[in-house]
Order: sequence, then structure tokens, then C-alpha cells
Amino acid sequence: MSRSRDLHQARAAELRAQIEEANYRYYVLDDPRLADAEYDALLRELIDLEARYPDLVTPDSPTQRVGAAASERFEPYRHESPMLSLANAVGVEDLRAFDERVRKLAGGEIDYVCELKIDGLAIALDYRDGFFVRGGTRGDGIVGEDVTPNLRTIRSVPLRLKGESLPDFIEVRGEVYLRKSDFDELNRDRERKSLPVFANPRNAASGGVRQLDPKLTAQRRLSLFAYAIAPRRAREDGDRLRTQWESLRYLESLGFQVNRHIRQCATIEDVIAFCERWESNRDDLDYEIDGVVVKVNDLATQERLGAVARDPRWAIAFKFKPREARTKLLGITITVGRTGSLNPNAVLEPVQIGGVTVKSATLHNAGYIRSNDIRVGDTVLVMRAGDVIPRVVGPILSERRGDPPQFVMPGTCPVCGSDVDHPEGEAISRCTNAACPAQVYERVRHFCSRGAMDVEGVGEVMALQLTDLGLVRDIAGLYALDAERLAKVPRTGQKTIANLLRNIERSKTRGLARLLNGMGIRFVGEQTAQILASDFGSIDAIAAASVDELQRSDGIGPEVAASVALFFRQKANRAMIERLRAAGVEMTAPKRVRAAAGPLAGKTFVLTGTLPNLTRESATELIAGAGGKVTGSVSAKTSYVVAGDEPGSKRAKALKLGIAILDEDGLRALLR
Ligand code: NAD
Repeated sequence: MSRSRDLHQARAAELRAQIEEANYRYYVLDDPRLADAEYDALLRELIDLEARYPDLVTPDSPTQRVGAAASERFEPYRHESPMLSLANAVGVEDLRAFDERVRKLAGGEIDYVCELKIDGLAIALDYRDGFFVRGGTRGDGIVGEDVTPNLRTIRSVPLRLKGESLPDFIEVRGEVYLRKSDFDELNRDRERKSLPVFANPRNAASGGVRQLDPKLTAQRRLSLFAYAIAPRRAREDGDRLRTQWESLRYLESLGFQVNRHIRQCATIEDVIAFCERWESNRDDLDYEIDGVVVKVNDLATQERLGAVARDPRWAIAFKFKPREARTKLLGITITVGRTGSLNPNAVLEPVQIGGVTVKSATLHNAGYIRSNDIRVGDTVLVMRAGDVIPRVVGPILSERRGDPPQFVMPGTCPVCGSDVDHPEGEAISRCTNAACPAQVYERVRHFCSRGAMDVEGVGEVMALQLTDLGLVRDIAGLYALDAERLAKVPRTGQKTIANLLRNIERSKTRGLARLLNGMGIRFVGEQTAQILASDFGSIDAIAAASVDELQRSDGIGPEVAASVALFFRQKANRAMIERLRAAGVEMTAPKRVRAAAGPLAGKTFVLTGTLPNLTRESATELIAGAGGKVTGSVSAKTSYVVAGDEPGSKRAKALKLGIAILDEDGLRALLR
């Protein structure tokens, strides 16, 4: 008996040590080395063990405390009332059990509010007489880190609340997060600057809030969703706020960004339907969510239900299936991108992540492999978020056997054998041969893709065949294809050939913006291409423009302008453009884009978020067609901001500058 108790005690101690270490890496260093599901399994085992043997519980057990102690780099921030964690539901059965428990304890039917569980960092914000005075992280739930100057840099943190009769004091809680698009941009920028890239938006957001220099926080473009008012203070508004639903509406009226995907549910089956819907649709959002938070709507009932240890009894987090797993790194292969960058890819022992078998993942660049000390043979943590390529987060060092050799980037291109350029201090190595077949393949594929010239039938396989067989040596080569040449592509019949030729012919009239995007100029994507096309009107005007002239366009910064100018200075590119012209490819913006007349003449628009019916491209075309101009960033010169679902910081900036904000219907009304 006592021997078995000793064993349990030893196991509990072991679990605590592992969990403490994981907490420290996750909350303090922002550099986890366990998959969340693995961490959750350890915590669950400890909770079960302590439930069976209550005398094993220690006051400092991680089951009794939230998060990790605040770092000493910051002043302490003491919470008005404990900032708790949430118990997890890992399947619908857990949700039903939660509902039963709640109804039994509360006695009667219960209304729930479902909110998306934003994967970021929880923070608290104090407002006195309507002014933001102080803010902190959650820390261990009692004391967090005072990060006030950093929070002030976040645009969606109101510095002053809106409305009449504001409370003397209110502590607002919410999640600081990073949009996926901002995260990608941040990582691209860090790659360019040879800085280590972040494994996921959560770590980048958490690291961003916990910077010692607020300027660095400001650069991360963080956002905030507010989701609660600290319980004790809620009573100040007691007359008005009776439910979580009302609290959310109230927060909105104070000027906070509240996530719009919320639902009031009268039954647990409605809750389950909401959870399941968002588990399937999570990739439609421009931010990461890792579950749904289900809260009892009535605030008085919440208070009555109270909390046990670290979790409130009135809420639960429904966790989506994990999107990370550990597996073995079997090898590293190199592919060559369209700018010649040598990209290392992980060959993995196949592993299931969120219902998909993952066999390969990106390793970004040699700098990433080095700084994370990733070696072939290691057990690694792999993360798959949304549609993006899975990435290797890092090695599990405790499982490394021996001292496997470090990875070395090849000195010559693995595809064409040319020299590789690796400037001192830069993370990226590049093949120096612009005619490298791998580069040509990537460029052709991009040129034919949907957002560019949209040549149906030239996908990955066809692009590879065309470049491998030497039938296409650059993008202009596509327009020199004829039936005789295409017949050399194996397994390609008459009908396919006729279709391909027709599609290639059709692509000639896609217009200047798509052509510019398709040419694969560094830093020129869809939006920048559209700005250049509508500002300059023809490829010749762009080619003739100086860096300064290019920069005069809204949204074109020095880096982009320099890259565009450099592209058009290259002899080979100019020659290629002449061949495109000779083939009859349209190189001017359609007349309507330059129309000086039209209902929107002289008006400047900025688009943000997803519109219900119009894609960004079609909205831009409509505006341009009516004589208006679409730019990338909001300034005092902007006439209107058209905001759809999930608008970004642009909407907030428009509000600040007092610029009119339209929805899709508003835009259509103007067009009429
Ligand atoms: P949690 O993330 O499970 O739930 C609580 C948190 O949810 C809140 O603090 C808040 O930040 C967030 N949240 C998002 N949207 C919300 C909303 N609408 N309403 C209320 N809260 C909302 O709990 P936790 O204690 O913050 O962290 C545990 C999580 O961290 C688990 O997922 C765990 O796997 C992970 N973790 C992982 C490691 C690791 O090594 N991988 C270590 C520690 C923790």
C-alpha cells in the first residue's frame, strides 16, 4: 500500500517538474518544446492523480496555479481579482458533462455564450475615468507583468474610452494576437534581416507584448480582442450588465474590438454545433484560434458557481484537434525558389496532424536550422497551421542521441550546379544563375497562377514538364509555344494541346496589374501590382520611373521601389518584356482604370477585411472603373475605407482619422 503511494508520489513529482519546465519555456521564454497536446496530457494525468489521491496535492502544484510566475524584467502588475485559466473539453462528451455539472450546480436551464478562443496572450487593461492607465499580463493569475508602455502601442487598445457616464474604474480583459497576414509579413521581414523567425503567431504576439523597448512592440502590429470585464468591478455596472452577452456589447460601445463570431446558445447541442462549425472553418479567419470558449451567460450564476483551483466552474474551453506533433527528422532536401533562394525542407517520418498526414515541413533557411540547433535524426516538434506549409518548430533535445552533425548548406545549386551566394550575416543563400531550371519553373508556375495570368492547365505538373523539357526557358517562352512543341510533352493529346493554346492566348488580356504580379518582381504581390498599374498606366511608364517617382505612390515604400527599379534596369528583363509585347500581351492598364471622369474620380479608397460578395480584385476593378484609386494604406488623403469581415488595423486608423467607412452596400451605392 505504502509502496504504491510512494510510486504515485514519485510520479506526481516527476509530472510537476516536467510541467513547471514546460510552463517556463512557454510563458516566460515564449519558446515551447512540447506540443500543446503533450502538455495537456501531462497536466491531465497530474489532475487525475491528485483527484484520486488528494493528499498528494501540494499548494504549489501546477494544478493549483495559473501560468507561470511573472518575469523579473518587469514591474509587478497585481490583478484586482484572480485572472484564471480555463478547464479544457477535448471532445463533445466533455461539453455535455460540463453542461450537466453546471445545470446541477446552478439548478435549472442555462444560457451559454460561445466565443472563439483566440490563440494569443491574455492581458488586463485598467481604465480610470475613461483613460487607459495600466496594463499587465496574466502571469500566475495573481501577479502579472506591468507592460503598460507596450500596450499603449497597440492600436486596438483604446487610450480613451468612448461614451457618456464612464465608470470610475474598469479592468478589461482580452487577448493580444497577431493576424496571420501580419505574422507572415513579420517573418518575411525577419528572414530578410537574417533574424530568427517565429514558430507561430502566439509566440510572436507574446514576445511582442513582453519587449523591454515599446518601439519593438509597435513594430509587431499586434491587435486586441476584448472579451471580459474583471468580475469584481463588473458590479459597478451591476445595474446595467447582467450577462456576458451584455458585457461584450458594452465593451464594444466603449470602443474595444470584440470578436464578432459570438453566439448565444440555449442548449448544449447548439453549443456543440457552434464548436464543430468553427473547428471546420478556422482557416477562414485571419488569426489563429485553438478552440471555442463556452461561458455561462448570466453573471450572477457565474458568481454563484465560482472556481476550483485554477479554473472557473462556469466556463470551459473546447479545444480543437491539435495541429502539432512530434516526429523524426529523416533528412533535409533543398528546393530552389523563384528568386533563387535555396530553401531547406524537412523530410519527416509521416505523422498525423489534425487529420492530415504530414511528411515534409519547411525549415525556412540555414540560419533557422542553425539558431534552433535542428539536426537530422532529431525528434522534432512540427506545427501545421491553416493551409500553410507545416513548419519544424525545433528539436526535442532530451531525445537526441549522440552528437549528430550540424547541417551545412551546399556551396553549389543542387539543381543547376552554379555557385551559391551566401552574403556574410544573411540567413538566405541564393543560386546565382537566373536561368536555373528550378527558378524558371517557379517563375512559370507563379506567372500562370490564379492571382497572376491565370493560365488554366499550367499547374505544377505542366510547368515542370515545360521547363524540364526546355520548351519554356522564361515566362515569355510560354507565348512561343505551338501545337508542335506541346506535342513533345508526354501524354498530352490534341484536345489538351488545343485547350492549353487557347488558355495561353486568353491570358494575354489579363491586364497590367496581373502581368506585374506574374513577373515575380521581389516584394511585388497582388496589391502592389494593382497600385503600380493604376498609378502609372503602362509598363513603359513604370520601367521609366525613378525610385523617387515610384515611391510617390501610396503604399510603395523604399524597399519595394528599389526592387521595382532594379528589375526594370536588368537587360534580360527588358528583353523579356519586349518578347511579351511582340506576342501581344496587354501592357497598359485598361482604359477605365485611368478614367479621369466617373463617379469616383479623384477619390482614394483603402480596402480591408473580406467583403461578402466581392473579392479584393473585383472591388479594385470596380473602383478603378469608376475613376477612383485604391491604395494600400490609410492616410489623411484617403477618401473612404471599405471594410468587410475581420477588418484589420486600417479600419481603426480610419476611425481615428475620421475617414468615412463603407461596407459593400455602401460602396455599391457610390458606384451607382
Ligand atoms: P487556455 O489557453 O487553455 O485557456 C485560457 C486562456 O484562453 C485565457 O487566459 C485567454 O488567454 C484565452 N482566451 C482566448 N479567447 C478567450 C475568450 N474569448 N474568453 C476567455 N479566454 C480566452 O489556458 P492557459 O492556462 O492560458 O494555457 C494553457 C494552454 O497553454 C494550453 O493550451 C496548453 O497546452 C498551453 N501550454 C503549452 C505548453 C507547452 O509546453 N506546449 C506549456 C504551457 C501551456
